[in-house]
Amino acid sequence: MELQLTKEEEEFRHEARSWLRAQLNGPFKDIRGRGASGDQDTYVEERIAWGKAMGAAGWNCIGWPKEHGGRGCTIKEEAVFNEEYVRANGPGNVGHIGQTLLGPTLIHFGSAKQQKRFLPAIVAGDEIWCQGYSEPGAGSDLANVQTKARLVGDQWIIEGQKIWTSGAQYSDWCFVLCRTDSDAPKHRGISYILVPMKQVGIEVRPIKQMGGSAEFAEVFFDGAKADQDHVVGGVNNGWKVAMGTLSFERGASTLGQQYLFQQEFEQVVAVARRTGAANDPVFRQRLAQAAIGLKIMRVNALRMLEHQGADLSREALISKLYWSNWHRDLGKLAMDLLGPEAELLDGLPYELTRMQKWYLFARADTIYAGSNQIQRNIIGERGLGLPKEPR
Ligand SMILES: Cc1cc2nc3c(=O)[nH]c(=O)nc-3n(C[C@H](O)[C@H](O)[C@H](O)COP(=O)(O)OP(=O)(O)OC[C@H]3O[C@@H](n4cnc5c(N)ncnc54)[C@H](O)[C@@H]3O)c2cc1C
Repeated sequence: MELQLTKEEEEFRHEARSWLRAQLNGPFKDIRGRGASGDQDTYVEERIAWGKAMGAAGWNCIGWPKEHGGRGCTIKEEAVFNEEYVRANGPGNVGHIGQTLLGPTLIHFGSAKQQKRFLPAIVAGDEIWCQGYSEPGAGSDLANVQTKARLVGDQWIIEGQKIWTSGAQYSDWCFVLCRTDSDAPKHRGISYILVPMKQVGIEVRPIKQMGGSAEFAEVFFDGAKADQDHVVGGVNNGWKVAMGTLSFERGASTLGQQYLFQQEFEQVVAVARRTGAANDPVFRQRLAQAAIGLKIMRVNALRMLEHQGADLSREALISKLYWSNWHRDLGKLAMDLLGPEAELLDGLPYELTRMQKWYLFARADTIYAGSNQIQRNIIGERGLGLPKEPR
């Protein structure tokens, strides 16, 4: 099951593969495969340097239009690149929030001045972004954000708290959803403001997770400042922009993800062989189910990529729910196969193996970017046309 590629697309694959191999077997060999799920807070400086090298060689934001610093690649080429990236064991991309969420948002909703100020630094890997949406009382119910911004002179003054902000501790900027009109209906009084992170009015408190890493953080705004001009899409129009940001994940990462899952699956099979569990009929059945799930995800991803433009909204709707549950279950299978060994630390005081880390982090897959329950609501309402849930 492969993507059908033209001669030019094959050449593109070859170019990407050669560059990635040379770099990841050369100057960046120490960070190969580092910074993946559950391992995100390791080698951050080195991975930022890697992002800059990618930018200098023209491999960041390849799907963006050329006038904004991209290569104007098709979604198929992006998918090919992502597949090669994982094949070469590329490290977790520190700049991904700027590259996949904020950048496309600015291209779509930003002013020319905002595009000129922010896009080149994202492409170059020079500025790292984080996403300030969730709050203690606003996760699935995002329109409930309570962080407030008021205009004083030519600056926004921001007060409030965000939570679960991935990478906040090493980000230069954050796109923050703020309430700018408390009297307006919930969805109408929100603005999307670009806020510099390195300032006195912001305190970042990393949250240590059960896997031992601190991938996300609480962010406190206490008189933080942002330029008046740094509102995207207009004051009180932030809900539309925020929803736009969430829709920009175009599915190009799916093949890369498939490949990563394939690698993890192979590691799980290796454990089954080593421990002898591969001969146990119940474990064999679970391994077979995992292999089938992998194939289903690949077929679904290829269908979405090969038929861009066709109405494949149902395929897209089931994708997140399917892969996140599959991944969580694979982690559980890995731990069951390991048996008592699953509870042994890799080192003191709390050093986990890579497999233990992704097992624990996979629990988060069913929460971020829309929890399982929210995904089911979306499938029911948008995919199946069921009545909307009462609000
Ligand atoms: C690893 C990770 C990284 C994250 N990174 C970021 C980030 O960078 N920036 C950011 O802003 N946020 C981030 N988040 C936050 C994430 O978006 C929220 O956790 C998610 O939206 C769920 O919100 P919540 O945690 O407040 O849970 P809640 O919304 O309080 O949900 C609690 C439970 O209730 C269920 N539930 C809620 N509403 C409904 C409903 N209407 N119908 C049925 N069930 C419902 C949910 O499914 C869940 O099981 C991250 C989360 C994780 C786990």
